[in-house]
Amino acid sequence: MRKPLIAANWKMYQTIPDGVALVRRLRVLLGDDDEVEVVVCPPFTALSAVGEALEGSRIGLGAQDMHWEREGAYTGEISPVMLTDVGCHYVIVGHSERRQSFGETDPQVNRKLKGALEHQLVPILCVGETLAERENGQTLEVVEVQLQGALSEVAPQPATGIAIAYEPVWAIGTGRTAAPEQAAEVHTFIRKCLAKTWGEAAATAIRILYGGSVRPDNIDALMAEAEIDGALVGGASLKADNFARIVHFEKVRGSKS
Ligand code: PEP
Repeated sequence: MRKPLIAANWKMYQTIPDGVALVRRLRVLLGDDDEVEVVVCPPFTALSAVGEALEGSRIGLGAQDMHWEREGAYTGEISPVMLTDVGCHYVIVGHSERRQSFGETDPQVNRKLKGALEHQLVPILCVGETLAERENGQTLEVVEVQLQGALSEVAPQPATGIAIAYEPVWAIGTGRTAAPEQAAEVHTFIRKCLAKTWGEAAATAIRILYGGSVRPDNIDALMAEAEIDGALVGGASLKADNFARIVHFEKVRGSKS
């Protein structure tokens, strides 16, 4: 049984007052029902204030990126210790916007992932192909290389120790969502790769999220796929009502084994 996980990536949006107002409203809309694990990932500047506004709630706090070292002469960077210090339990690692705009490589993603695990942060590891790679039939190959790179020398993780987000780059922020079957095919492949690396038991337990233009009007169909265990949501997470509707996806599946 994999508990669904829905995470909000606010990207470089929301000042402190806007972020605090957003989570206050979310708390009201989501109530105490904890059938779904919910995480918000504000920009670094708002982590502390949003964390305070979330105290005592069911909503977890995550960061969008981190450096792998605990401290050092790395101007402009934020360490895993600094994230736990402000109350983070999760961190997004290897988002395609970091890979594409900031040249982040698989070995760097691997170091970040290990750094997160060392400090008891749950990494949400993003993998996914570009449009050109999909059109060239390279989707599975690209995803496998990213997974192998990121998980190199990482011990098998328990169910709640890590999550993988399949985020086709062509679907992020474009309004173009992968068809549920298209996403499910890649999720099934990711689980096979995890089984090869970590064994069947770990692979079956780990949550694989879909990300890429998830909205209130497509979440139900995505979550109806047995292999889709949640979502990483960008644009639609910036409005409390939209994000709450996504969290409240229709529970059309039975329980997963
Ligand atoms: C993301 O930022 O990870 C994302 C999937 O963005 P969007 O939902 O806006 O496509």
